[in-house]
Amino acid sequence: MESKRANNFIEAIVARDAATLPADRTIVTRFPPEPNGYLHIGHAKSIVLNFGLARDFGGRCHLRFDDTNPETEDMEYVASIEEDVRWLGYDWNGHQYHASDYFEELYTLAQKLIRKGLAYVDSQTGAEISANRGTVTTPGTPGPFRDRSVDENIDLFARMRAGEFTDGSHVLRAKIDLASPNMLLRDPVLYRIRHASHYRTGSTWCIYPLYDFAHPLSDAIEGISHSICTLEFDVHRPLYDWLVSNLFDEPRPHQHEFARLNVDYMIMSKRKLLALVKSGHVDGWDDPRMPTLSGMRRRGIPPEAIRRFCEMVGVAKADNRVEIAQLEFAIRDTLNTMAPRVMGVLEPLRVVLTNMPTDHRVDIEASLWPHDIDEEGSRTLSFTREIYIDREDFLEDPPAGYHRLKPGGEVRLRHACIIACTAVHHREDGTIDYIEATADMDSFSGSEGANRKVKGTIQWVPVAESLPVDVYLYDRLFSQANPEDQPEGMTFEEALNPDSLRIVRGARVEPYVGGARAGDRYQFERTGYFVCDQPATEDRPATFNRIITLRDTWSTKQAPKPSAPKRTKSPKTTTRPSNVLVLSERAQALKGTHALSDELAAQLDERDAFVQLLDQLVEAGAPGALAASWIIQELPRREGEAVAPPARHLADLLKRVEDRSITPHVARTVLAEMIQTGAEAASIIARDGLGSIQDTEALVPMVDQLLAAFPDKVAAFRAGKTGLQGFFVGQIMRQTGGSADPETVLAVLTPRLHGDNS
Ligand code: ATP
Ligand code: MG
Repeated sequence: MESKRANNFIEAIVARDAATLPADRTIVTRFPPEPNGYLHIGHAKSIVLNFGLARDFGGRCHLRFDDTNPETEDMEYVASIEEDVRWLGYDWNGHQYHASDYFEELYTLAQKLIRKGLAYVDSQTGAEISANRGTVTTPGTPGPFRDRSVDENIDLFARMRAGEFTDGSHVLRAKIDLASPNMLLRDPVLYRIRHASHYRTGSTWCIYPLYDFAHPLSDAIEGISHSICTLEFDVHRPLYDWLVSNLFDEPRPHQHEFARLNVDYMIMSKRKLLALVKSGHVDGWDDPRMPTLSGMRRRGIPPEAIRRFCEMVGVAKADNRVEIAQLEFAIRDTLNTMAPRVMGVLEPLRVVLTNMPTDHRVDIEASLWPHDIDEEGSRTLSFTREIYIDREDFLEDPPAGYHRLKPGGEVRLRHACIIACTAVHHREDGTIDYIEATADMDSFSGSEGANRKVKGTIQWVPVAESLPVDVYLYDRLFSQANPEDQPEGMTFEEALNPDSLRIVRGARVEPYVGGARAGDRYQFERTGYFVCDQPATEDRPATFNRIITLRDTWSTKQAPKPSAPKRTKSPKTTTRPSNVLVLSERAQALKGTHALSDELAAQLDERDAFVQLLDQLVEAGAPGALAASWIIQELPRREGEAVAPPARHLADLLKRVEDRSITPHVARTVLAEMIQTGAEAASIIARDGLGSIQDTEALVPMVDQLLAAFPDKVAAFRAGKTGLQGFFVGQIMRQTGGSADPETVLAVLTPRLHGDNS
């Protein structure tokens, strides 16, 4: 393995283990979904991690269906899971397994435990078993069947399997320690009787192993090296180790836990998602508002964006919630270089250009890409006497400073010319029917007046050639950041956003979009990113889904933050002009002392605890502006308060970010572990080798290789596409797992991009 910095603590563990692996073994991970629902974006994090590790370390990742529960599982879910993993861009290369395939083997392993005196058939009732298990403060008491002989246990277990007993009359339990402080070790149940048909094994079995038994042993049977799961399983780890060490020789699998992904405005539980589907609040598992991978696919979100998001949020050991803005950023940033720019108007308003002859048309060759994007291509737009603009872009009686079209005003039409509104025609009911305007034919690109400046530019389509489409405008499914945070007796359904879908019929798109196939993505300029959901047929227009707006429209809608009552149904009503921010005296002082933005100063000022924490951090030597932004943006919140390690430790971390000895990306992962374990930054950084690469010597060969690998992009950069610098820096960051110091990268990269290699 070439040496590479670890992106996170799990990768560091795997790297360490990979280095000492015998030549005949590889890293083997697995993704083990229970086929009882569709995958959601939380699963994506696990998929990206497990398949990513296997790929990075030359190992393999198994897709294992954890299907030991006969009651909730279904073939439909199996098929959807396979499709979703593939769509995300991963392949299990034939290593697809089902825990239910191991039923016979698991049965044999259970017999082995019995023979070793480590398991027994308990015939107490469920209530007796739980009563005799004791409590957190009192040890359990042995039941009357705990000392059954091996022979009797073997016999009873065989008769359980043979169907001689009813559900619940006996269970198989591990014989571990009824006084263990870990309740899961107090003789956990391994097998129960269920006369139920299983979706794969039918009625072959009437005893089923529990997750805690089946999961570790499936790992061991498959030769998994690293069994990576979410944090809540850390208390199960002693049982995991007990089972594999009593039943398997080395090498054995080991379990490692990481924090599960939670995203604001989303719910991540299959059970709750199923409830939304069943109640009809959404239109199926693949409703484009769902956090499921199939929903996101239909929404038009590219898999690349989801992978990037998972890498951005990193892998930590402390539970937290991720802002949805991070996901939205990854989506916008991915679509930016992927979606050609076209024009569409959601609510068409007809404009008659009275100075153009009826059959006159100007054909315009218009680029599909802005110039800072390294893509080529254009389409022809016909500018004609009658066009549509968006109703939103015309106001009869506009406020001061309105830069779109108004009576007597001028506006530039994207790719075309300047028009001036000369008349407004109303219908009988007072609504606007159409408007008249004159086109300044001298203001087309290439003409003398091409550079004449007017304040606004708007999109348009020709009336005759444009096509009608139906547009589905999707918004967040929930209007509350944590939908599960509800008062007693209320459910997450209270937090549903009533405006999460608006359907617009009869929108118009330019002819180029008429050729769209399902899944084709576009940016409708000024309006958002859209995906073709269904192409047009003979009797109905095409439908488009809005993937995402061009800008985050929520942060301004929702400010100011908490202080407002908790459950405002529609946050959209709390609009306030985002450019007026009145700072209190304290906020003014914070702003002055630490050179903060108004926004940041105001957010700190919202809570005394934030201001105190800032003081402590600065006192301990942290740079003020950085500390302020970390308090607001990086520290996890619990009940609105920031959760932080001791000020001295956090200040130390921030000093390292400031002097660039670690990158912010790495610092976030370190912070999570500091909070979780109380460890200090220095020891985590030293242990995992997380220091930033500021070493020019190390970066030169990387940059040289990169430039050699993308000669076209280098040429394009030199021809003036300077925006490509970001592409190159991004590649280096990716290669170094975010640990390269950006300043140093630029210092190495810039002269070389310009062809100066000295
Ligand atoms: P749910 O609560 O949605 O039913 P689950 O954990 O029961 O989720 P499984 O099908 O058992 O779902 O999960 C398969 C794998 O995906 C497990 O390894 C689990 O740890 C992981 N996983 C599930 N949810 C998340 C999440 N939110 N973040 C990270 N990993 C997750
Ligand atoms: Mg589960």
